[in-house]
Amino acid sequence: MTELLSRVNPGVRGLQPYQPGKPIDELEREYGVKDALKLASNENPLGPSPLALEAARHALGEVWLYPDGNGFRLKRKIAARHGVPMEWITLGSGSSEPLDFVVRLFVSPQSEVLFSAHSFALYPILTQMAGARGIAVPARSWGCDLEAMLAAVTERTAVIFIANPNNPTGTWLEGASLEAFLRQLPERVMVVIDEAYFEYANHPATGAEGYPDTSGWVARYPNLVVTRTFSKCYGLAGLRVGYAISRPEVAELMNRVRPPFNVSSVALAAAEAALEDEEHRRRSVESNAAGLEQLAAGFRRLGLEHIPSAGNFICVEVGRDAAPVYEALLREGVIVRPVANYGMPRHLRITVGKPEHNDIIISSLEKVLQR
Ligand SMILES: *Cc1c(COP(=O)(O)O)cnc(C)c1O
Repeated sequence: MTELLSRVNPGVRGLQPYQPGKPIDELEREYGVKDALKLASNENPLGPSPLALEAARHALGEVWLYPDGNGFRLKRKIAARHGVPMEWITLGSGSSEPLDFVVRLFVSPQSEVLFSAHSFALYPILTQMAGARGIAVPARSWGCDLEAMLAAVTERTAVIFIANPNNPTGTWLEGASLEAFLRQLPERVMVVIDEAYFEYANHPATGAEGYPDTSGWVARYPNLVVTRTFSKCYGLAGLRVGYAISRPEVAELMNRVRPPFNVSSVALAAAEAALEDEEHRRRSVESNAAGLEQLAAGFRRLGLEHIPSAGNFICVEVGRDAAPVYEALLREGVIVRPVANYGMPRHLRITVGKPEHNDIIISSLEKVLQR
């Protein structure tokens, strides 16, 4: 097989696969702990809306039929919710998939792709898969430095990825600075604003001052794609459904590379119902905002610094190499996310849980750090 394997695309050869948070089963098996708590993948601790679950159950009765390959009803609902034409919406299997569509459309081995240091791991992975050169632009106060980003643009720059808020740092960009950035950027450069945590950040309870609603921005900036997901605030990570908002010309191109039936009928049905449940969304965001405060207060009590976050997770600086702290927390039955591979060896990223979860992580941290 050696010859066959040597023929794999050069971009794939040096690729490290995306590292997901440790699954609960695995921890329980390896460490012999019971009732492990996972605060590592930014899932909604309240789960999905009961309406979404009911719709998913109902849709199971028809799984022998192919789904609507155009996702007409879901696209219409998303469009209505954001006040944009439905021709602007492209559905994906999670919002990671539309990120891949953009790379397929615009990135070639000659391209450069920009993203911020300490930003989402998928951007360099997708870039490398396309055989292109990824450039991590140095961050400012852990967040995306838009001026440095502009200065890094060259003739070869094809795509810029900006996560707002950013994962794993939780930092966010204000509308005014993002617009100033977009105004100065040449139109030939595609910008993706990845808003996986939009529902959390776009709410006064979260305290992300100046956080913009970019839903309509593609009218002004044709080189903009905004991505959102049902995986985070809507609690449907396991069903894999997300979407992009773009100009219809770009949506039409994305449709050319989109695999047929990329969103399952169960996912379509659940997402449609989830959009209807304003009450569940409000409770999720308010519970998260309270959880962020609870965690921040706990960190202060332990004398630990944290990065203010607009997402449903928060990065805490543990004052030493975080790897052994992560390991010790695993032995306590708590899974958090080490972020050394994001250039943050002294931080841990903790997903906001229910109040009792947040208490457990603070007391586990206290115990582990005293050793
Ligand atoms: C979670 C996340 C996503 C998307 O995940 P999907 O489940 O594919 O929708 C995208 N970007 C960031 C920054 C994320 O944290």
